[in-house]
Amino acid sequence: MRLVAVGTGTVIPEGDRGGSCFYLEERGSKVLVDCGPGAVQGVARLGLPWRDVTDLILTHFHVDHIGAVPGLFFSLKHGLDAPRERPLTVWGPPGTRRLFSRLAAAVGDFVVDPGFAVHIQEYGRASFELGGDLELSVHPTAHTEESHAVRITGGRTAIAYTGDTGLPEGETRTLGAFLAGVDVLIAECSLADADVGANHLSPRRLAALAGMARPDLLWVTHVYPRFRMDHDVAGLLAAAGYGGEVRVVADGDGWSSEP
Ligand SMILES: [Zn+2]
Repeated sequence: MRLVAVGTGTVIPEGDRGGSCFYLEERGSKVLVDCGPGAVQGVARLGLPWRDVTDLILTHFHVDHIGAVPGLFFSLKHGLDAPRERPLTVWGPPGTRRLFSRLAAAVGDFVVDPGFAVHIQEYGRASFELGGDLELSVHPTAHTEESHAVRITGGRTAIAYTGDTGLPEGETRTLGAFLAGVDVLIAECSLADADVGANHLSPRRLAALAGMARPDLLWVTHVYPRFRMDHDVAGLLAAAGYGGEVRVVADGDGWSSEP
């Protein structure tokens, strides 16, 4: 399995960080997890096969996570040498079909009818079979009504992504169990403990969550720029009691299950 951080930014625009987007490849599956502003250009800039995306997984509907969705479908409709025939499946929270029909009403029918089949599968159960022998599991998070964390398993490899989430009482255990034992846990860590609201993670919350999940590697993303520039975020996680390997990722960082 191959994983690439395409967009590691936040709602605050930064020249070197796009909106949330991760690329995952396993066998025939080429998956985008979230598709924030700049994602399509980011995928192209990193030399990844934007033409061949098979699945788009959405964690929630905030625009820093979905802003490039219309652009992706516009490029797949008008930017290819030959019309695409392969279908694309969108996996998203309840409300994803409504989101796409509203996007289509605003910018054009290509969002739902780009000339190839677009299947929209809303999370209504805990797990789904993707192509390429991948399994997608989902778990609601405390961020917006529709927000979910996702876990993608292929063979003996698993990665998980918190999406955006807070950590209310009891969630350390339940969300931590959902995220447990993965090779790479991608986790948001938006703001400092003193500044964070109820619906995001901070170093203390993430240290508790990751301490429960115990991933082989913790990728920290979605760190607000001033917090990231003024602080050693990995050091704060260690100070909060997290002893595992941590990498505060930037756009273009990658990981592979192959040695
Ligand atoms: Zn959000």
